[in-house]
Amino acid sequence: METIAAIATAQGKGGVSVIRMSGDGAHAIARKMFSRKGEFVPNMLYPGTIDCGAFTDYGMCVLFRAPRSFTGEDVAEFHCHGGTEIARGVLGRAIALGARLAEAGEFTRRAYINGKLSLSAAEGMGEMIGAESAAQVRAGYLLYGETLTKEGKRLQAILRECLAGADADFDFPEEDLSVETREEVAASLCAVISSLDLLLGQYSAGKKIKAGVRVAICGRPNAGKSSLLNALLGYDRAIVSSRAGTTRDIVEGSVEIRGVLFRLTDTAGLRESEDEIEQEGIRRAENAMRGADLIVYLKEEGESPDLPEGIPVIFVGAKCDLHRRTDCEISVSSVTGEGVEALKELLYARGFGAENDGAFLLEARHYDALREAKRCAESALTGVREGLFAELYAEDLKRAYTALGTISGETAAENVIEEIFSKFCVGK
Ligand code: GDP
Repeated sequence: METIAAIATAQGKGGVSVIRMSGDGAHAIARKMFSRKGEFVPNMLYPGTIDCGAFTDYGMCVLFRAPRSFTGEDVAEFHCHGGTEIARGVLGRAIALGARLAEAGEFTRRAYINGKLSLSAAEGMGEMIGAESAAQVRAGYLLYGETLTKEGKRLQAILRECLAGADADFDFPEEDLSVETREEVAASLCAVISSLDLLLGQYSAGKKIKAGVRVAICGRPNAGKSSLLNALLGYDRAIVSSRAGTTRDIVEGSVEIRGVLFRLTDTAGLRESEDEIEQEGIRRAENAMRGADLIVYLKEEGESPDLPEGIPVIFVGAKCDLHRRTDCEISVSSVTGEGVEALKELLYARGFGAENDGAFLLEARHYDALREAKRCAESALTGVREGLFAELYAEDLKRAYTALGTISGETAAENVIEEIFSKFCVGK
């Protein structure tokens, strides 16, 4: 395989930079650049000088031997001093000695081609690298550990058995065996469908892990929304004023609660207004409310707000240092901080839910594949129960099998694979 090279660490000033090479020439190029002339035990870091042509750096070198490397090929890594110029110098020298610059995601693509990881594991790794919360890292790590691919393969194995049953059904249509086989196939398909349902049920939590839980903080002007946003964030994000109608646009801020990202929006106070800009702010506030996963409503005395249906609401009694409300489930003061931590706990419980912590179905691509597999498995089940010709329901079984295979990549289209790896950075 052609030798590729790239800077694997982020660009800019830093303590250490890592330059990675993979391919048939990786070890020879690294040895030409590195001062150590003796034996290299694979996976061991050796200190020494790195010759970059224009300058020399003191760093470390490690060689990984195929197939026991990230890509499954011979890999060499230099750990040099951080900073743009040194890393570029090491990379430039490797290229001058015969390596070529790697494309975005090319290391991971090679790992995939060489069977070191599945497509969903690569997506999990991407999820971890781009994570904005601990929950996203956890979910990505589960994918990276092949959790979903293993489950997909388990279900594929059952479908394969069903297909074998369909063949028996097809070969001996007049015999009793056929009825028994059909019953077995039906039972197996029911098991597959309920496993798919379990996975699909994770998606609403998975989407929240990936995109964050959207919380709209709403209420009348001056209810204390901006102050509450600031108190939840722990810094002054929104402008607080005793003048009603100060927040005219959406003000956003993110806070991690038990490792899950919550995207909070402070909205314009809801009231009748003649002011054109305020009216637009109120329209945006209503949109934010409709698009939210959870509404935090700062309720005032005697107020019965008109809220969108189907979205959970937490009614908060604000400014509890001044007055206490009895018709709200939680009281909060943004001035003294009372109730703020308890509100965060409530946001977590209502907006996410502790039982969702192990969710790993967060990619729309995986969700679509599982839904298609379920649709086909259901259609096959109907065929089996209605006594259709085995040839007919066997088609549905094959489609369900193929849909599941797109998760690991086994049956994924080339353009899908291409798109996944192109999202990675150069050096990954
Ligand atoms: P918004 O219009 O709903 O965003 O309300 P603000 O957060 O701008 O607050 C309106 C007024 O109420 C400001 O003068 C704040 O200082 C005051 N305020 C907000 N929260 C509290 C609170 O918890 N306690 C007290 N005493 N005053 C508050």
